[in-house]
Amino acid sequence: MPRPLVATTDISAMRSNLALARLMMPGTRVWAVVKADAYGHGLANAFQAFAAADGLSLVELDRAIALRELGWQKPLMMMEGMFSADELESFQRYHLQPVIHNPAQLDMLQHASGASLHVHLKINSGMNRLGFAPEHVREAYQRLQAMPVVSNISLLTHFANAENPSAVLTPQRQLQRFHECTQGITAELSLSNSAAVLLQSQIACDWIRPGVMLYGGSPGEQAAQDFGLQPAMTLMSELISTQQLQPGESVGYGSLFTAEHAIRIGIVACGYADGYPRHAPTGTPILVDGVRTRVLGRVSMDMLSVDLTPTPAADIGSKVTLWGNSLPIDEVAAAAGTIGYELMCAVAPRVRRETRGA
Ligand SMILES: *Cc1c(COP(=O)(O)O)cnc(C)c1O
Repeated sequence: MPRPLVATTDISAMRSNLALARLMMPGTRVWAVVKADAYGHGLANAFQAFAAADGLSLVELDRAIALRELGWQKPLMMMEGMFSADELESFQRYHLQPVIHNPAQLDMLQHASGASLHVHLKINSGMNRLGFAPEHVREAYQRLQAMPVVSNISLLTHFANAENPSAVLTPQRQLQRFHECTQGITAELSLSNSAAVLLQSQIACDWIRPGVMLYGGSPGEQAAQDFGLQPAMTLMSELISTQQLQPGESVGYGSLFTAEHAIRIGIVACGYADGYPRHAPTGTPILVDGVRTRVLGRVSMDMLSVDLTPTPAADIGSKVTLWGNSLPIDEVAAAAGTIGYELMCAVAPRVRRETRGA
């Protein structure tokens, strides 16, 4: 028997979440975002689950090539574009569509020859990470238009706060800036991330770019389940030990949890070296035999401890759900001071992987 920790990816859940994105934005094409190994769900799984997407969007060149080798024939958008001119050849050979967001990339294209590229000009409408400032957009667009290697120019911008109605920088403010600086330019536009798809579906565009929602995660405060999203990853393990603590006894490093009353605890084969957040405090939700209980004390590298009070019959071999079905990843993340996105991406290579719903 191998170590009992398994991350199961549910391909049918991913398929259903993609269908939901389409339902929210009828008539809009979908770039399914598959960066970071499909948010930790496995690129080959995403390839299967998102067969109905209009394109896939990511940032890693080797992963894009892997998708071509798997047989993906539809568009691939590279959301950080080329990092150096020597990558251009691969962009051409594999028909990858770069996002062009800085002047260095314009220079790379200027000096390029060979097969033509469909590019996406990124406009900085207030996020202030990537993209051309509004006053430089027209010049960048004209430069691209004049390049023989550029066959097609689309536009994109990215929302900073689509999940937060009280933000100062609203999507509406960003769109206003975007439209002011692109007036008169006729090009396809890709816009909405998951938060905008779910909460601002009145925002029209040609293409949306949902990520976390496709994996059943919520982009904000509202529970993913309330939107009808299904969790795509379930992380499960087992109890590998139980202990009886007497009042005053503690468990784990730093003795962060000390029993006030006699308490039976379980030790789970999952720790921070598996991607479980080390900062998850006592009280973080976890399921034993499907029953909700709490993490106790400090998460260690290979193990964590749980309260067995709600499940007196639990013993070595009892099933433990770290997150997924019946326990939203976003809830575990919130308890640990992070977001579901980070937990999905952080599942370690040593965790065994299974797939269902294929
Ligand atoms: C990651 C990313 C997305 C997807 O964001 P979600 O919040 O996961 O939906 C969309 N667009 C860009 C540019 C991104 O980097």
